Order: sequence, then structure tokens, then C-alpha cells
Amino acid sequence: MARIALFPGSFDPFTNGHLDIVRRGVGLFDQVIVAIGTNSSKQRYLPVEQMQELIAQLFRDEPRVSVRTFKGLTAEFAREVGAAYLLRGLRNCPDFEYEKPIAYGNQHVNPGLETVFLLTSPILGAISSTIIRDIHRFGGNVDAFLPFALPPVAI
Ligand code: ADP
Repeated sequence: MARIALFPGSFDPFTNGHLDIVRRGVGLFDQVIVAIGTNSSKQRYLPVEQMQELIAQLFRDEPRVSVRTFKGLTAEFAREVGAAYLLRGLRNCPDFEYEKPIAYGNQHVNPGLETVFLLTSPILGAISSTIIRDIHRFGGNVDAFLPFALPPVAI
């Protein structure tokens, strides 16, 4: 049985920190599915289709990584794609406090689904999609944090 891990997130945008988690996930699992959650009541900064395409391009030569979008419960989507593992990154204690109830909730919805946490590589721990959005929104350069170039914004 292939060991499939789902790496769910908003990825708005996908950062070098996320990339590190996927690469290390590939070392642990047979397949990693990057799953961009879509929530119609939450306004995204970058369109989900654009982010899916950008991430897919990064892994075009790595058949063990795929990129999907999904609506609804992460744990249900994991079941749908046959993933027995959820992959998440931990940067710090607030991340842990945030992730813990989510992991319990996911286990409630899909018993047997194991959440696997990888500690961020030290140099990437300060990268956050929120900060990147704030810098980019006002025309700042965010290239150092991302594995691809984002189109500039009109200010
Ligand atoms: P969500 O909205 O689900 O928190 P994010 O896209 O912000 O989605 O993050 C997805 C996952 O990646 C989360 O587990 C988060 O903790 C992790 N993550 C975010 N930034 C980093 C980083 N710099 N290094 C490693 N993991 C990260």
C-alpha cells in the first residue's frame, strides 16, 4: 500500500518554508499531495488556480508530488484521495497550539488519520504567508521567501 500524505493549507502564497516541508515529506512518504483548501467565505490574496499552477510547475519533474484543490473538510478529502497521513509544518509554539485542536478534530472526523508534524528548518522558520502578502501588497520585493516570482501588484 502506497503511503500517501496530504499536505493541506491555504498556500496564499506557497513559500520556501512550504517547499521544504514537501521535499522532506517526499523522503518519508511514497506520495505527497499538496492540497489547497478553498473556502468561499474567505477572500484569497492570490487566485487558487494561479497558485495551483505555480506549485505544479515546481514539481513538474517529481511524479510523487501532485497539487489538488479541495472544498470542505480536510479529513474527508484525505479519505477521498486515500491519504492516511496529514503533513503539517511547525514553526513555533503558537503553531503547535493552533495545530493541536485541528489534529484532534481531523482524527475525530477520520479515525486513523495520523497528523505528522515536521519542525521547520531553522532558517525558514520566520517565513509566513501573511507577512509575504503584506510586503507584496505594498510593492515590496518578496523573492527571497518564495520558490517562484509573483507578478507585481498595482499600487
Ligand atoms: P493554513 O491556513 O492551513 O495554516 P498555511 O498555508 O498558512 O495554511 O500553512 C500550511 C502549513 O504549512 C501549516 O502546517 C503551517 O504551519 C506550515 N507552514 C507555514 N509556514 C511555514 C514555514 N515557514 N515553514 C514550515 N512550515 C510552514
